Amino acid sequence: SVNSPKSIVTGGAGFIGSNLVRHLLGKGHRVLNIDKLTYAGNLRSLDDVAAHPNYEFLQADIADAAAMNQAFSSFMPDTVFHLAAESHVDRSIHAPLDFVQTNVVGTAVLLQATLHFWENLTAERKAAFRFIHVSTDEVFGSLGEAGSFSESSCYDPHSPYSASKAASDHLVRSWHDTYGLPAIVTNCANNHGPRQYPEKLIPLAIINAISGKSIPIYGDGMNVRDWIHVEDHCEGLLAVAERGICGETYLIGANAEWRNIDLVRNLCQHLDELHPSNNGLSYANQIQFVNDRPGHDFRYAIDSSKIRRELGWKPRQSPSDAFRSTVQWYLEHENWWRPLLR
Ligand code: NAD
Repeated sequence: SVNSPKSIVTGGAGFIGSNLVRHLLGKGHRVLNIDKLTYAGNLRSLDDVAAHPNYEFLQADIADAAAMNQAFSSFMPDTVFHLAAESHVDRSIHAPLDFVQTNVVGTAVLLQATLHFWENLTAERKAAFRFIHVSTDEVFGSLGEAGSFSESSCYDPHSPYSASKAASDHLVRSWHDTYGLPAIVTNCANNHGPRQYPEKLIPLAIINAISGKSIPIYGDGMNVRDWIHVEDHCEGLLAVAERGICGETYLIGANAEWRNIDLVRNLCQHLDELHPSNNGLSYANQIQFVNDRPGHDFRYAIDSSKIRRELGWKPRQSPSDAFRSTVQWYLEHENWWRPLLR
């Protein structure tokens, strides 16, 4: 409808992006999904909304300035949610320049297109416009056994992935500070949930387990990650777009720290109950420790008290059964992940 808020989602065919597109449509937004459709982009993740009257798709690279300018002037967004990125740490170790190109150059081109569009808006629309940058807690580097990241943590990235995301965060802040672009940076914990590409730890563990393969865990499995359900992240992003303060940063997390080994054992437990293996053994028997990832950060943990206090957001998923619904989703959607396996 004419009065619906209009949102551009970059990377909307990816894991978080496809969940966000669905979330925004559910909230009455009109959505333009801009995605290059790399190996990680999958239009099947949007099958159920492809024909929605408020949904449009544009296949384009965020680093293509002409395509971005054209998209902005024809769609006329109120908000941009910027998620398009190369997102897999292990790939960044083998092909770092792809990460610099999309995450750094692409973000700069997108910011420039946003700025040109924003500068020509009426004063009222200019004031209401938002650019929401979706980033990761990995930009802050690695924690020891104690403590957590906050909005004032120093940047200390270690992988080409996290370094490129750190650069993109700085670019977004500089477009706010230099040109007044109404931008906000968010840094979120590790996401899990439906439609995550099967190279990532949780879908990989589930799929390998039920395929009778070994379940690889880096090093000794003691590395700690902080987990959040993707729908809780999407609600957090909308809260930031609606109530966040321009130029500020918001950390999004669900206080759910898990050592990798405990997480995978938990997934196996859910699988043992939901999908008992033919040989009667626990899937945990398939766990296999493999050589550690170079530069592997030891621990991430997010203090999300600012977004909880200032924007009234909190995660809905209960930590106790956090992963069960995700396990269930992959069990029920083999038709989604099977074609993605090589
Ligand atoms: P993903 O890899 O599943 O999806 C990325 C999407 O971006 C894909 O659809 C891909 O086709 C698209 N894309 C890549 N390069 C592009 C380009 N040059 N132009 C247009 N589109 C392009 O990633 P994800 O896990 O959904 O992550 C989305 C965003 O959220 C990323 O910016 C990531 O850094 C951030 N993030 C992810 C997590 C997580 O746990 N997955 C946590 C915090 C932040």
